[in-house]
Amino acid sequence: MTAHGPMDFPEAREALVDAGQRLAARRLVTGTSGNLSVRVGDRIVTTPSGVPLDSLDPAWLSLIDLDGTHLSGAVPTSEVPLHLALYRNTGAGAIAHTHAAVSTAVSCTCDELPALHYNVLQLGGPPRTARYATFGSEQLGENVVQALRGGRTAALMQNHGSVSVGHDLGQACDRLELLEWLCELHVEAHRLGTPRVLSAAELADAERAFEDYRKRLKPGR
Ligand SMILES: [Zn+2]
Repeated sequence: MTAHGPMDFPEAREALVDAGQRLAARRLVTGTSGNLSVRVGDRIVTTPSGVPLDSLDPAWLSLIDLDGTHLSGAVPTSEVPLHLALYRNTGAGAIAHTHAAVSTAVSCTCDELPALHYNVLQLGGPPRTARYATFGSEQLGENVVQALRGGRTAALMQNHGSVSVGHDLGQACDRLELLEWLCELHVEAHRLGTPRVLSAAELADAERAFEDYRKRLKPGR
């Protein structure tokens, strides 16, 4: 087995440090809650257990393999089973999970976020809520995999928080922020009354409009 040092995978380490600061600056994490990881081949660089995400030390991140074996660095996050389940069952290159306040509040109240805005399509459709299971458990990983079935890229975690996958950590953070915004919208709309929900036909039209928009951005593809 190849020995690993504290500065292997420098790009992944930098991405984790940057993402931790970004999510903290946008108030999506408080204290030591939340965890992030990046996959590089058959290795995963994760945030350590018990360290605030806004003050990660690149040399003190945790390196594990796809079986969860700890290879170097600090003790990895307690949510390793969640991250492993998502890497095994999705094409994710990175994962972000936090206890963002509004997403967590909404996770206690609905099984699927109603489509109040067409931007749910940026998350593969209306985000579902993964059923509650104890943090760090294999069951929680399985429940989140279920919530992401059919190409969803973000989910609420019942009475716990939110989680997203991406091809890189920047994309995973974008999705986590979008999910928090959609939850804020949900709460605000319900404060005003009973919100109108987009129909399946309206979402299908919006999906086509997104496709046209992408084609215009990348002509010839
Ligand atoms: Zn958590």
